[in-house]
Amino acid sequence: MQSHLETTSRLDAKKQACINHLTLENDQILRALVLMEQMISSSRGPFGKIKMVQNSHGGHLTMTSTSSRLLSSMSFSNPIAKLVVSSAQGHLQTFSDGGHLLMSFSLNLILGSLRLDISRRILTDLYEIFLTMCVEYLTNFSNIVSFSDLKQMSSMVMSILTSKPLCRFTLKHVRLYSSLILECFLSSLPDGNAMGGQVTDGVTIVTVEGESMEKSTLLQGLLLQCPEVASHSKQNMITLRTKAPYILVALVAMSMSGDTEETGSMQFESDISVDTENIFLQSLEEFCDKLVVANVRLLLCQKVVHPWLKQYLRERSVVVVERLGATMIPYIQDVSGAVPIRCIGAVDVDWLGKVAHVEHRIIQEKSYLLLTPLAEQHVMTLVLYSPDEEQLSELKSLCSTCLMSLRHLLRSPHVLFGGGCWQTRLSALLKNKVKADQGDIIEKTGCTRGCLMEACNIFTNTLEKIAIGTDDKYHHMSDFESGHLWHLPKCSNPDTDVVLKCSCGAFKQNISKLSYIGEDTVKIDRDLAQSPPSFPVVDSDVVLDLSATCVSALTSGVLTANTVLSIGQSIQDIN
Ligand SMILES: [Zn+2]
Repeated sequence: MQSHLETTSRLDAKKQACINHLTLENDQILRALVLMEQMISSSRGPFGKIKMVQNSHGGHLTMTSTSSRLLSSMSFSNPIAKLVVSSAQGHLQTFSDGGHLLMSFSLNLILGSLRLDISRRILTDLYEIFLTMCVEYLTNFSNIVSFSDLKQMSSMVMSILTSKPLCRFTLKHVRLYSSLILECFLSSLPDGNAMGGQVTDGVTIVTVEGESMEKSTLLQGLLLQCPEVASHSKQNMITLRTKAPYILVALVAMSMSGDTEETGSMQFESDISVDTENIFLQSLEEFCDKLVVANVRLLLCQKVVHPWLKQYLRERSVVVVERLGATMIPYIQDVSGAVPIRCIGAVDVDWLGKVAHVEHRIIQEKSYLLLTPLAEQHVMTLVLYSPDEEQLSELKSLCSTCLMSLRHLLRSPHVLFGGGCWQTRLSALLKNKVKADQGDIIEKTGCTRGCLMEACNIFTNTLEKIAIGTDDKYHHMSDFESGHLWHLPKCSNPDTDVVLKCSCGAFKQNISKLSYIGEDTVKIDRDLAQSPPSFPVVDSDVVLDLSATCVSALTSGVLTANTVLSIGQSIQDIN
């Protein structure tokens, strides 16, 4: 006991911090990076393995193979791993997709580089040159999709939906969700003259656990959960049927609890005899009177409403929904055009919103209000059903990714052939380009020809490894003409005259014209390298990747690897 007191005394001389100095070659760092690479590469694509994540205290069990859900359910202590993860999270915030691609690229490039006996400064210079070449190819050779061609749009949505195995989509599911998502996206697009007025993307996703996935549906308007409207009452919101062609909505973004502690950072002094809570409640009552006079029929509050005020408003035919949370406020602004009220002073009628209808809906014994907007507002709710909680979360993540990708496509309608085909083609094109430009590159970086070829091999091997995935039951092949990727089962002995489709489904090739990936024989015709492969006319769906997502993931992946490779030591204070 004595010794314990001594060690914790404030009078003790300050002890030296316990600091870990780790270089990239350190076993602890290497093990973490190898483990992380295995985890990421084994989760990628439609045949990726689902990961179960749970903390050591037996908390929530997350099942997923999507990078966004996987990274948010895990915590990383290794500083290098943290750097790669934060780069992926930054990319996912913008694109919601491509996290695996970014991390796989980064980690494979780092681990491959550590095996080389080449100055890291030269390696990072070479990787930047290769990256510039890749981005140039991807930018120039991507295909443009037309928004009038629903088949192409639907192909891109289906490619995202089928890329994750947890939802166990059948073909029927894929078709259903693809058409739901496309309809949702197209219906939520604002009119040209209203483009600047919308606060959100116009789509809310509501998840309902307990029914089959076929039940998922699309509703026009905003669906708000409102537990206080009793689910068994089957009430039809008769109170909200007015003679006016619209219903007035007040959106309150402050607390209406009457509690003085809820008044933000304001400070005031009062006499002990003054009942401050009562005074606050009286002010709120006056505020409610103003709303009633203005003919408001629906009050939507971000925070809590005092029970007495709720009763007071109900008696005056105003429906109250409280505790909506800050995230719902922008969606309510879009559906109604209301301006959030943040103080209980004068009520400006211009702040009030308008909706066409308010309907009470009961879904899985829970109470909701469906707010239907006036004609000029485009707000949709995608209601997703699944019998399983984790499947429902994965489904929500996939649908959000599809909607975000469609919005990116609106800004830049460029797509790449997916299924590993663009990476295979890019690898072949890069090998050709580096060979052709080797004199210039050597002059620019001061490296030897041997160094250049080794660095190029690491870079192109990384592209090919990502393209073929982790499934070792197939031979992976490519051709001279398109540079796409073909998978042939290892056990089969196919007739060389057979014509097979490539991995993305866009091109067909005779088996006799295919070569194993990695062999020097796979070179793309020089003429073909100058022109983009145009969209072939195919009878089935083609796997498509969004170009903006892939270019951003590749760029961030290479730049993160370069940052890591330029780190001399990582220093951790483990006190
Ligand atoms: Zn292909």
